[in-house]
Amino acid sequence: MTEATPITVAYGDGIGPEIMEATLRILAEAEAKLAIEVIEVGEKVYGRGVTTGIPAEAWESLRRTKVLLKSPITTPQGGGYKSLNVTMRKTLGLFANIRPCVSYYPFVKGSPPSLNMVIVRENEEDLYTGIEHRQTHDIYQCLKLISRPGSERIIRYAFDYAVRNGRSKVTCMSKDNIMKMTDGVFHKIFDKVALEYPQIKNEHYIIDIGTARIASKPQVFDVIVTTNLYGDIISDVAAEVSGSVGLAGSSNIGLNFAMFEAIHGSAPDISGKNIANPSGLLNGAIMMLVHIGQPEAASLIHNAWLKTIEDGQHTADIFNAETSKAKLGTKEFASAVIERLGQKPKTFTPVEYKPAPKEDIASKPPIFAKEKKELIGVDVFYHWQGKNVKEFAEKLGLIDCGPMELKFIGNRGLKVWPNVDVEPFYADRWRGRYLPKKEGASITHHDIVTLLNNVQALGLDFIKIENLYTFDGVPGFTMSQGE
Ligand code: NAD
Repeated sequence: MTEATPITVAYGDGIGPEIMEATLRILAEAEAKLAIEVIEVGEKVYGRGVTTGIPAEAWESLRRTKVLLKSPITTPQGGGYKSLNVTMRKTLGLFANIRPCVSYYPFVKGSPPSLNMVIVRENEEDLYTGIEHRQTHDIYQCLKLISRPGSERIIRYAFDYAVRNGRSKVTCMSKDNIMKMTDGVFHKIFDKVALEYPQIKNEHYIIDIGTARIASKPQVFDVIVTTNLYGDIISDVAAEVSGSVGLAGSSNIGLNFAMFEAIHGSAPDISGKNIANPSGLLNGAIMMLVHIGQPEAASLIHNAWLKTIEDGQHTADIFNAETSKAKLGTKEFASAVIERLGQKPKTFTPVEYKPAPKEDIASKPPIFAKEKKELIGVDVFYHWQGKNVKEFAEKLGLIDCGPMELKFIGNRGLKVWPNVDVEPFYADRWRGRYLPKKEGASITHHDIVTLLNNVQALGLDFIKIENLYTFDGVPGFTMSQGE
């Protein structure tokens, strides 16, 4: 007999407790072997002044079980409170967000036929690292960080997921035509990792046309892997298109921890009325059962749930005149699923989950070896409030740059000096690019410090610098538009 797997359960806010009770009842009837530890997170905890919404004892349970099944929580409005989901993702290192988007045509209205895709979203990096600065009166900056190991890990996860789940294609979405370094490296790693999976087709879409295609022809996609911000957006587009926002579950996976939930919120408008649909959380719980090595229970429940939907046994949110036969409350819907345990769907394809192998993503050697890194220049960013670029160039011309020289001045990514005739709109943040006078020479940190001392002596406000490196001779920086 399988030993019970310890899991942590959070009942959440709003409809959370109702849908959790319904879900756990189905899991128990399907004989899922679980040793449940309940924690309190969300509204009540925020109310006690814990700004993260999660108390210390909850972390202790999570450290023990490493698996969380979580109902939605209500995020309090107003300053000071932190999003519980973001805290969880960062603290537990949940690098992958997995969201299956499936059509339940013709039983759920608005579901386009034959849609069945899974979005694998990188969860920790990109513009979501929260490193933002205001640098001048005009300019606010948010740093987009893409790491090679982070990209490799999520892309490998997507291909492994495709193999494990009998899927045939992985699509990468990026904007590497514009962000040639950050999105560029993500795309390059995708192409390299794809070579290790010859049995899986691969393709790349620029994110804008990719998103449009998800909206218009979602059935052409299978597994999609992308970076954090794009993933956030396309997950919602895909969920909306699938017509099953109330039905979808999602998982957040890390090397040591995992969290499973519904994609919808706490629905305070219908809380306590026994009308909420527990399917989203149930689908999250099914993903959890596969993750903890109980694929038989996962298949049993998933098939019973599909049969329930097929039989027209619907909660109010998906009730429709054509295919619904009964309008059920939350508890009654759970009973309808339990009655069908052991049955298989007839219209939908029955599901058969396989045991998930223990992830060994972390142990794979990195695709790219470390290159030789050489310092060859510096970009100095200035706060300067004038509008006459020639005047600014004359001022910068007074600076002793040592072994370097000023190659160009830029403003908002555009080269504006030398040899530029048009006068674009200038913001008050300027960039001077300094490279060695002698082509191919390298420079030292001391050269940069000396340059900055001379800038400072002239009374100019430098707001940041960015060192310019080559890696095995390849520039680790982009050219300016117009350079
Ligand atoms: P919501 O998803 O809670 O509700 C949107 C609409 O969908 C409502 O009309 C609701 O009644 C309906 N709905 C949602 N789930 C349903 C279900 N299972 N069955 C039937 N109908 C359902 O979104 P919202 O109103 O924008 O957010 C409410 C609260 O939830 C907010 O405090 C928000 O911050 C929070 N939230 C939490 C999570 C999470 O914990 N993962 C996710 C999203 C939103």
